[in-house]
Amino acid sequence: MCIAGVVLCLLATIAVPLLAIMGGGAAPPVGAWAGIPSRALTAYRETDGWCDGLRWQLVAAIGQVESGHGTFGGATIDQETGEAMPWIFGPPLDGSPGVQSIPIGSWLGWWGLAGPWQQAVGPMQFLPSTFDAWAVDADEDGTSNPHDIDDAAASAANYLCGGTEGAIDDERAAVLRYNNSASYADEVLLIADSFGEFVVVGDGWLCPIAGPVSFIDSWGAPRSGGRSHKGVDMFAARGTPVVAPVAGTVEHRSNSLGGLSFHLWGDDGTYYYGAHLDAYGPIAGWVDAGTVVGYVGDTGNARGTSPHLHFEIHPGRVRDEPSAAVNPTPAVADACAANRIGVGLSGGT
Ligand SMILES: [Zn+2]
Repeated sequence: MCIAGVVLCLLATIAVPLLAIMGGGAAPPVGAWAGIPSRALTAYRETDGWCDGLRWQLVAAIGQVESGHGTFGGATIDQETGEAMPWIFGPPLDGSPGVQSIPIGSWLGWWGLAGPWQQAVGPMQFLPSTFDAWAVDADEDGTSNPHDIDDAAASAANYLCGGTEGAIDDERAAVLRYNNSASYADEVLLIADSFGEFVVVGDGWLCPIAGPVSFIDSWGAPRSGGRSHKGVDMFAARGTPVVAPVAGTVEHRSNSLGGLSFHLWGDDGTYYYGAHLDAYGPIAGWVDAGTVVGYVGDTGNARGTSPHLHFEIHPGRVRDEPSAAVNPTPAVADACAANRIGVGLSGGT
């Protein structure tokens, strides 16, 4: 039933087999995105606003459905180059049941295609002609590489937008243009909505944990009393220093759920909250970025769990005007890339 974009039509038939092959619940559950490798997340976020109306979550959702963010078949994304290795290929388009028949033709040898049939290529599963039409060299290494998550994500954005001069005023229509399947569009939009808001943090934004740390995205996960999780639980050894990610004014207070907690009214206009401290840092009042504001512990309702910092980000919040928290995981995933030692533990609070 494909009408537009030959490439995208093919994706509809390819996406399901790829995830099915991954099997065993390998795909991240809807509502969480523990499965986004930080390198892929970086590439997706670069596509935000490629054209009016494009949000990075839409590109990320497509990347999840198409290849598990470049992890299909045991692939991993090279931290330096962004290339998914080993290279990812969809099933041969050989006319098998549910699959179109597209001979390799002049694309033989294109980015590893061995024929005799065409295959979708790379983490975003482009067919050669579609990639060729919309390719972007996002990382400016001189080559538009469909196996490179930077180039592939940007090319997907370019295609969704219809070019940088395009616009998206109907996300569903854009996804259907990518792959003309109603069930595919439903799945992509549901996943995109589960990813939460884009937290914008500056280049100088520091990891709040000054030591080895592990965490997953548990935004929205169920918590006691029917609450849903509004932060990220950053697991680290008890006593690991917790530092201010930005300069601002720090207060130390305690409450029954959070135990020993810090409040940071950042000079960047954002309010930060951290809980379950083992002890407070030595200074209250205005502090520079990197100042120790406390130490990782298990106070409050975290007593008896693995020591962790429950950390929240509330953009635009001033003292008497609360603002909603946003998912802090993208920010800490970026800022903590150098000291992150694992995806994390369950059992946070
Ligand atoms: Zn928490």
